[in-house]
Amino acid sequence: MRYVILVISTTVLVASGCRDSGTSSPPIEADLALVGVDVLDVSEGRLLENRTILILGTRISAMGSRDSLSVPSGTARLDGVDGKVVTPGLIDAHIHLRDADTTALLDYLAAGVTTAREMNGRPFLLEWRDRIDAGELIGPTLRVAAPTLANFSSPREGYPTPESRSEANAVVSSFRATGYDWIKVYSFLGSDPFLGVMEEANRLAVPVAGHVPIEAGLRVTMSSGIGSIEHLTEYVSSSLLPESRDLDEEDFRSVFGAGEVNWAAVDSLVDATVAAGTWNVPTLVWFDRNLPVPMAEAAWADPGLRTQGETNRREIVRRLHSAGALLAVGTDSDAGGDLPASAFHDEMAALVEAGLRPLDVIRLATVGGAALLGMLDDVGTLSAGKRADLLILPCNPLDDLGCVRRSEAVVARGRLVTRPSGSGMH
Ligand SMILES: [Zn+2]
Repeated sequence: MRYVILVISTTVLVASGCRDSGTSSPPIEADLALVGVDVLDVSEGRLLENRTILILGTRISAMGSRDSLSVPSGTARLDGVDGKVVTPGLIDAHIHLRDADTTALLDYLAAGVTTAREMNGRPFLLEWRDRIDAGELIGPTLRVAAPTLANFSSPREGYPTPESRSEANAVVSSFRATGYDWIKVYSFLGSDPFLGVMEEANRLAVPVAGHVPIEAGLRVTMSSGIGSIEHLTEYVSSSLLPESRDLDEEDFRSVFGAGEVNWAAVDSLVDATVAAGTWNVPTLVWFDRNLPVPMAEAAWADPGLRTQGETNRREIVRRLHSAGALLAVGTDSDAGGDLPASAFHDEMAALVEAGLRPLDVIRLATVGGAALLGMLDDVGTLSAGKRADLLILPCNPLDDLGCVRRSEAVVARGRLVTRPSGSGMH
């Protein structure tokens, strides 16, 4: 995919006109205007028609009806947006930037993902995060989790393996001092070190996310105060009926949820999730696309099992959502690797398949992600003062969520990201 990044000057082109003395409201400043757009009010679930959005630098400086909000003279106007639908930028709560190639950042922006949480950080990603914040690098606003904490049998380079509570305390404190935004835990972190992670993270008020540590289990993990759990895995693995398990396939069936499920057991876990206030990031699309462990590849080729797994995972999402559990949209994508940035659109489609309305899915993808990341003051909705992160769509995504996939332009931090045939400016 080819696209062009047009960098709008952040210089204030027109500061103010002459004003009568006694005028109290300050002049509105802007360097980019979107005139005549229909803005999706995500919270209320309706379109605000015929609006003008004024952008100054990286933020929305004003938003109002086209009739009441005039564009300061000299402000650049984006052509061809009249009647188009504007939504807040999308938030992918689970990505992996695999190497020091910044191309992937542009892939996320082109997909409309203007904020993302990197789930296995390294020092260069902290540098990217800060350079993006400073306007020196173009990419989605990043939140970066620390390197994954686990007790791998053969430790991987860069993966700390705390064995005790005190070792886990020290690792968390060191990651926090290094500047990571989240602590990431993995399935194979022992119960004691996991509780040590949570103890120190809660003390330092640094959020924790990741796989449910198998030894601790889902209920202990949720009651420990973890912020978000990824992939839904334990909802299925702890609820599969015994006859659905096959020794040779146990890992496959548990991880991918291919089996007969005890739904009463799932509902009990759903209730515990709501009570604990734990977020879930289902990453349905990762499981839909990826093969399980090599030993189960033959079984995974059975379309019946694949369908059963897909259906079970969607049903768990539906039950979580209808019970009021907190959900955000994440892909586990690694743009430039196995799963592209555009998998976010597939994840949204999968959530519709799970029974959520398009409005529900857009909420999870915007305000949901913003709430999970503690960024509601900056992103997730569109209003004056919020970061100028938005998508310009050819149609109303409440009627057809596929509209989001066909975005005509993306504005990230006030910068227009578009394809060569996209909208121009004058
Ligand atoms: Zn991941």
